[in-house]
Amino acid sequence: MTELIQDPKSGFWVEVAPTHCTNGHAYRQAKVLVSWHPCTCAGTMGHRTHQCRECMAITYDPPHTPDGQWEGIASL
Ligand SMILES: [Zn+2]
Ligand SMILES: [Zn+2]
Repeated sequence: MTELIQDPKSGFWVEVAPTHCTNGHAYRQAKVLVSWHPCTCAGTMGHRTHQCRECMAITYDPPHTPDGQWEGIASL
């Protein structure tokens, strides 16, 4: 799961992207589709999604729960 860390220089909170999919493929620029999806289980933040282009596994941050209402199709 993605974490937020505080950059010691700027003081800003920055997102630490996952480095591997659930099947162990390394995420590199060409191998991962980064997107975002609104969903009730994630509140107003929605989910950050990382999809592996090798196995199409999707990582959700924060983790998606079955109670969440997936809101439409993401369009970026
Ligand atoms: Zn993968
Ligand atoms: Zn959700």
